Amino acid sequence: MRLKVLGSAAGGGFPQWNCACSNCSRLRQGTLKGRARTQTQVAVSASQDSWILLNASPDLREQITSDPDLAPTSLRGSPIHSIILTSADTDSVMGLLHLREFQPLRIFATESVQRILNEENSLFRVLRRSDPPVRWEKLPLNQPVSINSELCCRAIPLPGYLPDYVSGQLRATVREEEAIVALHLTQGDKKFSFAPTLPAFNDETKCTVAESSLAMLDGTFWTDDELIRVRGSGKTATEIGHIPLSGPDGIIQQMKTFQNTRRILIHLNNTNPVLDEESAAHRAVVESGWEVSYDGMEIAL
Ligand SMILES: [Zn+2]
Repeated sequence: MRLKVLGSAAGGGFPQWNCACSNCSRLRQGTLKGRARTQTQVAVSASQDSWILLNASPDLREQITSDPDLAPTSLRGSPIHSIILTSADTDSVMGLLHLREFQPLRIFATESVQRILNEENSLFRVLRRSDPPVRWEKLPLNQPVSINSELCCRAIPLPGYLPDYVSGQLRATVREEEAIVALHLTQGDKKFSFAPTLPAFNDETKCTVAESSLAMLDGTFWTDDELIRVRGSGKTATEIGHIPLSGPDGIIQQMKTFQNTRRILIHLNNTNPVLDEESAAHRAVVESGWEVSYDGMEIAL
């Protein structure tokens, strides 16, 4: 299994266009030791010349065109054949609109995510114009699904929320446990867990990570009050669906014993001090055995 991190930041990227927090300002001034990042996007390949996208980021067009492995393989044909969605959040699905150029694709998503995108957001109907049209494939909870002849995927429900934009009417008829899932991808004995949004720990998530060769997990915030400190008001990390990295209940402490799993942070918010490679937070992450993903990172499992 091959993995490419095409983007590693949370929504807004790094720097964020309308943010002058310490990280964003120092990156612009060239005084922060760290890298600019596009919004989180991962591509997975189980065989040569065939790629699967995990979510579809708002930066997807640029992410695809800047990677030679994702270039067209025929006059009108892409090595990208499937997309697997972990939620209907804007940052996970906006890139689908970049894939509208009459390309037949398969999109795997939970039934609730499919309903949110197709029943209320008619813009996504542009995907139907391809011949054959884009195929929406079911991603049931806790059941392995064959993505292609090589790769299986299991969706693990996470205790998250439906996106703000979902209407009250639709909200009443979709299943909240299908709102956000973690993905467990397997190819033979290679196991990869992907959860760029981790709203809380449950036993199933922990067990899945523990048995994975590689886990790429939610690195959005360092502290629970990070956004409040930057903006002066607002919600905590936990309230908006992200366990912070630090603290006794944080991701790093909770996964301290998972030494057999290669653990990588992804989806870093521009306010996160981990982005500063000279910060105490970055040092603490590295000393705990974690890696911090970056745009262009490649992994062979
Ligand atoms: Zn910022």
